[in-house]
Amino acid sequence: MPQDTAPSLLHDTTPATPDETAAAPSRPVYGAAFDWIDEARAARHRAGLVRSLRPRPADSRLLDLASNDYLGLARHPEVTRGAAAAAHRWGAGATGSRLVTGSTELHARLEAELAAFCGFEAALVLSSGYAANLAAVTALTAPGTLLVSDAGNHASLIDGCRLSRARTEVAPHADPEAVREALTGHDGRALAVTDAVFSVDGDAAPLPALAEACRAAGAALLVDDAHGLGVLGEGGRGALWAAGLAGDGDVVTTVTLSKSLGSQGGAVLGPARVIEHLVNTARSFIFDTGLAPAAVGGALTALRLLRREPQRAARAVQVARELHDRLTAAGLSAVRPDAAVVSVRAPSPEAAVRWAADCRAAGLAVGCFRPPSVPDGISRLRLTARADLTDAQLDTAVGTIVATAPAV
Ligand code: PMP
Repeated sequence: MPQDTAPSLLHDTTPATPDETAAAPSRPVYGAAFDWIDEARAARHRAGLVRSLRPRPADSRLLDLASNDYLGLARHPEVTRGAAAAAHRWGAGATGSRLVTGSTELHARLEAELAAFCGFEAALVLSSGYAANLAAVTALTAPGTLLVSDAGNHASLIDGCRLSRARTEVAPHADPEAVREALTGHDGRALAVTDAVFSVDGDAAPLPALAEACRAAGAALLVDDAHGLGVLGEGGRGALWAAGLAGDGDVVTTVTLSKSLGSQGGAVLGPARVIEHLVNTARSFIFDTGLAPAAVGGALTALRLLRREPQRAARAVQVARELHDRLTAAGLSAVRPDAAVVSVRAPSPEAAVRWAADCRAAGLAVGCFRPPSVPDGISRLRLTARADLTDAQLDTAVGTIVATAPAV
């Protein structure tokens, strides 16, 4: 039903305006107010750093090692049916913010099942993982709070720190001793924030040691498990579960529903009193329209599917490790993955862009990270392992990446 009707969305003949003619809309008359944008654009061109949108066809024949669909659930028929059924039952949109009309029984179900699955007391679903991180950081801090943030953290945690107006100390990457030092002697509230799996290199944070450093200082720990949910821990219960920290009363975690669960949205998980505090104070929750029912239905169906098929989680890590081992055996430089993200070094931004383009031309979609998205200035191909990749596809992927690799 949705698969059949979707293509017609691309072919609407209704005029956009009543007097629309066949001619394409003309370029507006430009004033001078945005001339500075042309200069910024020219600078981006000179630096070879232009980004543009490329629509993904519904029936792409590319082998996908670029998306975050780690478990292959975004197009799983059961998941898309769950999303469609939720839209039919509750509507295309949530119709309002969660505190007004935007909470359905389905939101509550997802929150209960997500919290139970990951081993936390309560959960709160938001419109994205980005919004979840803003909510958690800002609601758990005040201007006098000390925030200690890992140097490799995702932009959404960084933006949360900025919005919080709390004093933020950036700790060296994955360094629990530095976090311990930063927290020592601080009198008052403190919160350490870290990704569980860092999105650029796919390495994992030393969670037990970080939790210990926080415990010693009486500080709270916030962990963004965007890349751990569905991949790490028993049956994909996440990095906190794997670290023995699920349900810890001083730990809060955020997840996205848009990677392993193949849907869209985010959530904060933690002690019930923390979640209740977020409901009452987190601006990116309160002033945002609730997550669309289709996304809730898709995520809930994917979560149930994962509970039924827990082997998907371990398979994603196994594929990542195999990719890494075979690429390094072929002489490429890659970071040993702790989860499903595999990062392969490229000698320069230009080489990375060309490498990714050559892979694409050969039928393989890979991610390409380069400055300014990478603070350390190192350009990489970013591969995402998928639990549903066959051995033959793995062979093809490795063969293509090696054959197109730039000379060093
Ligand atoms: N945290 C991390 C580590 C991420 O990689 C992402 C997604 N790129 C997010 C948060 C944001 O999640 P969402 O895409 O659901 O907003």
